[in-house]
Amino acid sequence: MHRHTEFEKDLTASNRASNVGGMPSRAEFEAQLRMTDLRVTRPRIAVMEAVHANPHADTETIYSVVRGSLPTVSRQAVYDVLHALTAANLVRRIQPSGATARYEARVGDNHHHVVCRSCGSIADVDCAVGEAPCLTPSNDEHALDGFLLDEAEVIYWGRCRECSADGP
Ligand SMILES: [Zn+2]
Ligand SMILES: [Zn+2]
Repeated sequence: MHRHTEFEKDLTASNRASNVGGMPSRAEFEAQLRMTDLRVTRPRIAVMEAVHANPHADTETIYSVVRGSLPTVSRQAVYDVLHALTAANLVRRIQPSGATARYEARVGDNHHHVVCRSCGSIADVDCAVGEAPCLTPSNDEHALDGFLLDEAEVIYWGRCRECSADGP
């Protein structure tokens, strides 16, 4: 049995809608912060904008984007904001083994990722069937040892189009 909370569904719906219509407005980011009881601050808004505009970016990339609009922001401040947003489920953190952590604004839909072994580029992979089929790994409750699952994280590894065109 798996289910997403209403809250997650709302986020996913607004996220999907925003992907169609482009970047959400500042007011929408502020509403998302308030919904999760996070105070609205300029660094938080700037980080949310940077993560939306740069899916799967690492901390350094987000930091340099944020500095474009907030030149005085510190690396530590951006780092702290990313942690707060991740904890509030407004931003999702992914960390392929051997790579630096990446962040994205597409949250709550349990999608997966494919990572290029050569250049490290990352793309989204939707669940193959239904909403989140991987949340049911086994019919045997004992195999889960009492764990109640709420998420499955799958990373596919391969070579992206550009890298595989370069030959083996
Ligand atoms: Zn590649
Ligand atoms: Zn993603």
